[in-house]
Amino acid sequence: MSRTWEELYEAAKAIQHEREISEMISAGGVAAAIESASGKIYTGVCVDTACTLGICAERNAIFNMITNGEHEIKKVLALMPNGKTGAPCGACRELMTQLMPGHYQEIEIMIDYEAHRTVKLGDFDA
Ligand SMILES: [Zn+2]
Repeated sequence: MSRTWEELYEAAKAIQHEREISEMISAGGVAAAIESASGKIYTGVCVDTACTLGICAERNAIFNMITNGEHEIKKVLALMPNGKTGAPCGACRELMTQLMPGHYQEIEIMIDYEAHRTVKLGDFDA
């Protein structure tokens, strides 16, 4: 079963909520939803820390998927603080590459939800 982009968008929107967790940590400004090979949706928010302990929303969602026993991604959607979708950073793209060597190229990424513009990870200008 394949999830629609609308479902991924709504899943990300539902968890996007920027908040201060402590003096040194904020979270939730960026939210991501990914569709796994099984068709499940996994979500994650960014965690920003005063040093380098934080994590991007996309990688948080991927780790959530791995925590739940899956390791293949079909679609990735990330909602930025301005409410628009955006491309994963280089570190997140590298993680996807290492997660699915040989077929990471097929991962679909929502670049512009309003314009319905997607790209495949293999087409990315790194
Ligand atoms: Zn990232």
